[in-house]
Amino acid sequence: MKAVSLSSRNPKVYLYMIRTRIAPTPSGYLHLGNAFSFLLTALIARKEGGTILLRIDDIDAERTKQEYLTDIFESLEWLGIEWQEGPTGPDDFMQNWTQHKRLDLYQALLSQLREKQLLFACSCSRKKLESFKSTAYPGICENLNLPMEAADTAWRLKVPSDESITFQDRILGTVTFPLGQETGSFVVRKRDALPSYQLVSLADDTHFRINCVVRGEDLIPSTAMQLYMADQLNLTGFKRSEFYHHKLQRDESGQKLSKSAGAVSLQYMRTRGFGAEEVYTLFAEQFLNYSETRVTTFGQLETIFRST
Ligand SMILES: [Zn+2]
Repeated sequence: MKAVSLSSRNPKVYLYMIRTRIAPTPSGYLHLGNAFSFLLTALIARKEGGTILLRIDDIDAERTKQEYLTDIFESLEWLGIEWQEGPTGPDDFMQNWTQHKRLDLYQALLSQLREKQLLFACSCSRKKLESFKSTAYPGICENLNLPMEAADTAWRLKVPSDESITFQDRILGTVTFPLGQETGSFVVRKRDALPSYQLVSLADDTHFRINCVVRGEDLIPSTAMQLYMADQLNLTGFKRSEFYHHKLQRDESGQKLSKSAGAVSLQYMRTRGFGAEEVYTLFAEQFLNYSETRVTTFGQLETIFRST
């Protein structure tokens, strides 16, 4: 991370310039869990004097819908979250910021991995993979030398079975993830020939010089995969990033909230007349252990966050 001297008279005072991102996917209405993650990101950026990029992950175009894209901007405005870089609205996004404009960037990373002979073609169907109990790829195609350019073929990055990734997390401390056992060789280019989320996210974070990644604990495997890939590609910026993996907002039955499970959406809350104060107050209770008063503004939430 780049340290910038605040004052030439006092070289001991440094300001670490945090560059973080809010990275929603326009494949469903945003829910409370998304709101909590974005609020935490915004609060960290404000506290550290950093900047926020709005990065909308639309590489999976089939799942992208205009109404979900619009919902992202309406939700962030409703939550009082501001960003300094990225699209100003859905039209600006489609014209200037869609991930489909950066396909060359992703392709370049895939080519590098391929030149280093770190990839292999995998023709396993989803059904076939689901028949294995282990979450890790069982290595079926690894030594078959299948043609890379065949139709319906994914590309996987080779991961040794004893590979383990350790990183420092600002919330969890030292995290060790047994990558070889948990994911094994993972997909970097999908069967539809588009780059995978893991590759796209790493490429974008590198491209936009992100040095602070705030995400849910469910994405620890992603962080481990991306750190491993960054190592292979010598992307030192990502490796030196600060990571915050926060706990997940759960429903009454203890399940994590998800769009597919029909979690209560922010859009539903807005149309029923709830204000963002509902979200601030719940966030303060669940993430900051604060329940003295209702939290009615983002500024009030910021004050509470700074004192924790
Ligand atoms: Zn395979």
